[in-house]
Amino acid sequence: MRHLLDLDDPTLAMWMAERELPRYRVRQVRGWIHRRRVEDFQSMSDLPLALRQELTDEFRLWSSEIVAVREAADGTEKLLLGLADGGRIECVLLRDGIRRTICISSQVGCAMGCVFCASGLDGVDRNLTTGEIVEQMLLLQRRLPVDERLSHIVVMGMGEPLANLERLIPALDLACEADGLAISPRRITISTVGLPPAIVRLADERPRYHLAVSLHAPNDELRNELVPINRAIGLDRVLEAADYYFEKSGRRLTYEYVLLAEVNDGQEHARELAGRLRGRPALINVIPYNPVEGLPYRTPTERAQRRFREILEQRGLTVQFRQRKGDAISAACGQLRRRPTAQEGM
Ligand code: SAH
Repeated sequence: MRHLLDLDDPTLAMWMAERELPRYRVRQVRGWIHRRRVEDFQSMSDLPLALRQELTDEFRLWSSEIVAVREAADGTEKLLLGLADGGRIECVLLRDGIRRTICISSQVGCAMGCVFCASGLDGVDRNLTTGEIVEQMLLLQRRLPVDERLSHIVVMGMGEPLANLERLIPALDLACEADGLAISPRRITISTVGLPPAIVRLADERPRYHLAVSLHAPNDELRNELVPINRAIGLDRVLEAADYYFEKSGRRLTYEYVLLAEVNDGQEHARELAGRLRGRPALINVIPYNPVEGLPYRTPTERAQRRFREILEQRGLTVQFRQRKGDAISAACGQLRRRPTAQEGM
């Protein structure tokens, strides 16, 4: 059976047309799923019964199941999803003031191999389908009371989003539709390890999304160690592609920098980073390391964090430290993984 969430509007419109149904039925179906949060086709009460039946016979609305839910005291919820083929992914809902942010995955596992990250420990299994990406949004949305809506999306779950651009773009486009989730593209952030050809493609096709580039090191020597894919790319090319994205989008980029104690948190690293980014309208998002069981990295001391920040600020850069949310349930950045630890029980 086909997964309805995999179909874009023109394809669904064609399906309707083949049955001599008017095009506005597409909007109706989407409205029921994305805004009115129904769980099945039969509940779409203003559709003709015959159409509801035909949809039921031909499509499945859901392709994954919620295997486990974990909730933290700060309102963060993490879902472990079981995909139709047995794959496992995680996605997270974060509550922060009036913000309702979701963090979604783009692949099962990850091939980038960043040495400090849990998601890539077992390599990559496969890309998620568009439907599987949209489904994460809808399952998380349904955790909210009816009078609350999702405000932000970050593609910072498992996987490298730019390695699955083909399926990601339609999913994000759907999230922006006025009669869908109606999330502003400026509030959708794609975080990438920095794959230049894909950044260029995104810049040419959809410069409307916010781009975050994971740097983690101010020079190639250190970056090659922490972000192995860098050996084949190099910082210069990453920054060049990022500059191109800025040119096309007109919007400031974010550079992410995970702070690892005594690895990349020194004053000399901060100075070199500031030098590298000088002249660029950039926001530096520093992420104090969220420890991952079994990995040797540590979170820097408060003092080291403060020093790092001061050096960047003294040099005129805009710095933001990522608030830690959800780490009590291993839902914090980089803690999403394919095989949950036994200790966690999920
Ligand atoms: N593949 C994308 C998305 C990764 S998750 C990318 O590389 O950007 C989003 C951010 O969290 C990335 O910058 C990633 O390097 C960082 N991250 C991964 N593991 C982490 C950890 N344990 N603690 C803090 N940040 C981590």
